[in-house]
Amino acid sequence: MRPKSSLGQNFLKNPGIAEKIVAFSGVEQGDTVLEIGPGKGALTGALLKSASRVVAVEKDDELFGLLKNRFSDEPAFTLVHGDVLDLDINPLVSPETKVVANLPYNIATRVVLRLAEVTTPPASVVVMVQKEVAGRICAPVGHSEYSALTVLLSAVFLCDPGFVVGPKNFFPEPKVDSRVIRLVPRQNPLPPSERDAYRQVVLCSFAQRRKMLRNSLLGLPGITKQGLSDLARQAGIGLEKRPQNLSWEEYARLGRIYRQIITP
Ligand code: SAM
Repeated sequence: MRPKSSLGQNFLKNPGIAEKIVAFSGVEQGDTVLEIGPGKGALTGALLKSASRVVAVEKDDELFGLLKNRFSDEPAFTLVHGDVLDLDINPLVSPETKVVANLPYNIATRVVLRLAEVTTPPASVVVMVQKEVAGRICAPVGHSEYSALTVLLSAVFLCDPGFVVGPKNFFPEPKVDSRVIRLVPRQNPLPPSERDAYRQVVLCSFAQRRKMLRNSLLGLPGITKQGLSDLARQAGIGLEKRPQNLSWEEYARLGRIYRQIITP
């Protein structure tokens, strides 16, 4: 079959990398793994050697058939046919689940954000993404790659930047390097009830990343100049700051107080 670039199909051809990913994920007997985009099964096969159960979600019709055949004798394998972005993934993810995937580049950030939005986050998320996307996910405060993506994920996960994988390990070869990263849930993540206001404040701040908060946060629905001064004072944050200089905890404070201000 011809690899479909529309589905981000770059298949791992180096079994050593699949084994390195499994070792980095810490998957062991007793674990249930959720794999997103199993493709032809390069990573799936390695996962089945270590885990007790592997649930995989594949969108491609042809690959679905191929995987069904390849792993027909594997009672530990469950294959779901569907688009991971359309599925309700809550039933597939519990605090014991380990997510391991070589993600399609074109949807990688959306998938990782969805994993941060599930009701109870998985035990860990080990994913291969474009190196540049990994840089944005794992960037420290103040770094040029620190972005809305960094802050949204930081409210739930800590990031380990893992290791780089070069293009020659895939067929077809992508044009860029990849990186395998690991996300583990924080001990004290942002409570789900605070997520909406948090997201609003973060997205509004980074919509104009070079501007000071005094300008960008005026874009928040229902906020006046006076309301913004009150918000900043109560949160203890200077409005001359720019979005890349605030920690996720500072955004959490802004979100919490913003919610109080606009809730009648
Ligand atoms: N895991 C395999 C490997 O490492 O060789 C394949 C990885 S390939 C980068 C991405 C896989 O995700 C492909 O099999 C592709 O068909 C699948 N895929 C793309 N979009 C998807 C979606 N929305 N939902 C589920 N699977 C998807």
